[in-house]
Amino acid sequence: MKAQIKPGKILINNEWTEAASGKRFDVINPATETKLTDCAEGDLEDVNRAVSAARRAFEGGAWKKMSARERGRILNRAALLLDKYRQEIAELETLNNGKPVSETLHVDLTLAIETFEYYAGLADKIHGETIPVNGPFLNYTLREPAGVVGQIIPWNFPLLMAAWKLGPALATGCTVVLKPAEQTPLSALRLGEILIEAGLPPGVLNIVTGFGPTAGAALARHMDVDKVAFTGSTDIGKLVMKMASETNLKRVSLELGGKAPNIVFADSNLDDAVNGALRGIFFNQGEVCCAGSRLFVEQSIHDEFLNKLKTKAERLVVGDPLDPKTQMGAQVSQEQFKKILGYIEQGKKEGAKVVTGGAPAHTKGYFIKPTVLEGVTNQMTVAREEIFGPVVCAISFKDTNDLLKQANDTVYGLSAGIWTRDIGKAHRFAKEVKAGTIWINCYNQFDAASPFGGFKQSGFGRELGEHALELYTQVKSVWVALD
Ligand code: ADP
Repeated sequence: MKAQIKPGKILINNEWTEAASGKRFDVINPATETKLTDCAEGDLEDVNRAVSAARRAFEGGAWKKMSARERGRILNRAALLLDKYRQEIAELETLNNGKPVSETLHVDLTLAIETFEYYAGLADKIHGETIPVNGPFLNYTLREPAGVVGQIIPWNFPLLMAAWKLGPALATGCTVVLKPAEQTPLSALRLGEILIEAGLPPGVLNIVTGFGPTAGAALARHMDVDKVAFTGSTDIGKLVMKMASETNLKRVSLELGGKAPNIVFADSNLDDAVNGALRGIFFNQGEVCCAGSRLFVEQSIHDEFLNKLKTKAERLVVGDPLDPKTQMGAQVSQEQFKKILGYIEQGKKEGAKVVTGGAPAHTKGYFIKPTVLEGVTNQMTVAREEIFGPVVCAISFKDTNDLLKQANDTVYGLSAGIWTRDIGKAHRFAKEVKAGTIWINCYNQFDAASPFGGFKQSGFGRELGEHALELYTQVKSVWVALD
């Protein structure tokens, strides 16, 4: 084992400190239900200190003077270091989150590295424009960093969400106070060490570990934070927006929940679609905001499709996340574990039938069997609320127009999948489904260059790609009289 588990501290001004209150909280391994270590419990006072450090770094000093190209070099070095420490960080993430090490090694780490590489390359390509205007004037725009940024991230992809947030923020020249989820703070702290090793000057990245209602809320409310970027549940996203608007009207971007339709037509390649349905819901134990949790299956193939899905779901290896052969690990916490089992019971009460799974997979650890529910209607609680677990709700459909209505009949709009060999139908659906990402004959594809974000109550603002630069910059228009 390469991962080193050590007590977590708060990072302010490139120094590791205890919380002002001296308080600490436990960090749990969800696969064993035992304590891994503990972490400083930051709150208002720590956030105030972190924001002051970020403000000083933004307004003066090495970061402000640094060229964009040099910022890019730091991000590139961070990518190289993440690769160098890949095994160690993958194990750390697995121990803290419960997800399989095969995924942390090859998905989380790979995508995090590519995110830093991508924004390293973009750092020196952020520029304004010259605009032809009436009269004897030169008009041009400057694209300036947003300022001090608060970033609040969730526990399902702890390292990757930190990378999605930090890559564009640092490329644009912002300074950051990052608040990792209290369940999974360890990989973000390791990333902090790596960014310091890569050459990030003091105060540019500050990390305050702690709880949402204290540390998170302090950041969302802070009068000297210029922008808050949040990924998490829709309820807390609404709260973050409210706090931002009640205080200094800081800019907000939100990446929230989802209840994605994954639509399988009879004319699709069934085996591919089965694999896509499987990946769509069981990847990362279903703790994915864009999970394909509403599986719409055309009636004529419904039974055959569900049989195949059941067989494959039952073959998935659920167990020790550190075993390279494991395909599904533990849910992140006892709270999530109980919540998911509660949803399965609710589904049964409302008339859904358990095709497979529906129960804990082991006696120790927060493992849940891959679960397929059939006979679900789009009105049932399990089809309306985000379960955030390995539970797929199969809904049979006959009529294509009605299907489209049902697919869009949700408060969410993060993603959707469509399986068909009819390209006209595929593109028509891609246009009609109200969601930020559409996967045609594939699912859960990501790339640092491709934008990701929600329609409707799945949030607003686009992360990744060049679009994310808009979240962390503001445009200034400059007029020059020519005579
Ligand atoms: P989940 O319900 O999936 O745990 P949350 O939306 O509660 O997701 O958490 C996502 C992130 O938001 C975490 O970092 C959490 O600490 C933070 N958070 C939770 N409550 C608040 C709050 N009231 N204000 C600010 N941040 C919060």
